[in-house]
Amino acid sequence: MSASSSVVETLARIKREAEETGRSEKELFRVHIHKLNSKNRNALAAIPFSKRILLLPQCLRNPDCPAPQNEEGYICQQCSPDCQVNILSQKAHTLGYKGCYILPGGSMIPRLIAATKPQAVIGISCEEEALLGLLTLDKHGIAAYGVLLLRDGCMNTAVDLDYALTIISLTKSEGTTFPP
Ligand code: SF4
Repeated sequence: MSASSSVVETLARIKREAEETGRSEKELFRVHIHKLNSKNRNALAAIPFSKRILLLPQCLRNPDCPAPQNEEGYICQQCSPDCQVNILSQKAHTLGYKGCYILPGGSMIPRLIAATKPQAVIGISCEEEALLGLLTLDKHGIAAYGVLLLRDGCMNTAVDLDYALTIISLTKSEGTTFPP
């Protein structure tokens, strides 16, 4: 599963709009992400944890992370109780998620989706990666939800942990009342 030409065109159109209007790309990406998250929230909430996967960016690891890497991404060694990756992946495992993957890059996603066939995907990433993933998964009928990094970059990034844990734990009883 790769980004279709229509997904690539949507991203290009948003970038053109940013250039023409002087608005920031990130701001425009966030508007679209918000719409897609709102559309998918109830569907996500109704899907059992065992049919969901969680995708985490490698940049969320501690800078001195010792995790080895294999074909499924980085393998957390749970070396730090404060590490956001550790906290989020432990939560997903405790809830019974089908999988939780720490990705070195987005190129691994199509293979993981093909291998695990999830009904729902929660991904933590920067704006552009989130929108690319949401649009692509939407075309494949997978309920996807993007949680944005508070601070992005190649390393030492951060996420709103409480918010991410709430989305990961979302169930049907909360899906209709939780704010988008
Ligand atoms: S807890 Fe896991 S992801 Fe975090 S620094 Fe340690 S090995 Fe890396």
